[in-house]
Amino acid sequence: MKDTHKHQGLRNQLVKTIIAKGVTDKKVLEAIASIPRHLFLDSSFADFAYQDKAFPIAADQTISQPFTVAYQSELLKVEKGSKILEIGTGSGYQTAVLIEMGAKVFSIERQQELFRKTKLFLQKLNYKPKALIFGDGYKGLPTEAPFDGIIVTAGAPFVPNPLLAQLKIGGRLVIPVGDDVQTMTLFIRKSEKDFEKHELGDFRFVPMLKEKN
Ligand code: SAH
Repeated sequence: MKDTHKHQGLRNQLVKTIIAKGVTDKKVLEAIASIPRHLFLDSSFADFAYQDKAFPIAADQTISQPFTVAYQSELLKVEKGSKILEIGTGSGYQTAVLIEMGAKVFSIERQQELFRKTKLFLQKLNYKPKALIFGDGYKGLPTEAPFDGIIVTAGAPFVPNPLLAQLKIGGRLVIPVGDDVQTMTLFIRKSEKDFEKHELGDFRFVPMLKEKN
């Protein structure tokens, strides 16, 4: 598992592309500049790791496009020590970005194969989430709530109420909502009962897997 000057050069180019698309959060850009995305991909795609594209990972899932990761991470407004819940650990790339930004990260994955594989992989790279959980993201993580931010990295058919309920006042939920195409949606909790809602651009994610009973 090597990271070379060549990879660093490609990452710097990728960061320029992401800046050109409008991302300004320094912590996000520094995270993308430092994380070896080529190691998060299947080796057959490793040569393309620094193109701004999504790629297949195990279990019919995808590693999100770097711009999408950057955009969602920026919307979360992560501060050092922010407590963040991620739904959909997948390859662990988004998890690593949040950790690198200084967040305390809890991440839930619904598929056991990915959960196991990514847990070992993040350990190997020395990224330390607070917890990786094998479970159902629709329920959030009530035992660790409330969170400063919650990020959903699969297309949600609707906004799960437990996720809104598990935000701190002032906390943010970033969630792509829709079936074939998703609208990136940002909720900011204004008070116990009030949420501000912002509908942002269109994105395409793999669909969130159904709720478990
Ligand atoms: N953040 C990931 C994106 C992975 S794609 C990355 O950077 O690679 C979306 C992931 O969400 C998949 O791994 C999928 O298995 C997972 N997922 C889908 N439905 C889920 C659910 N209900 N609860 C938790 N994870 C889910």
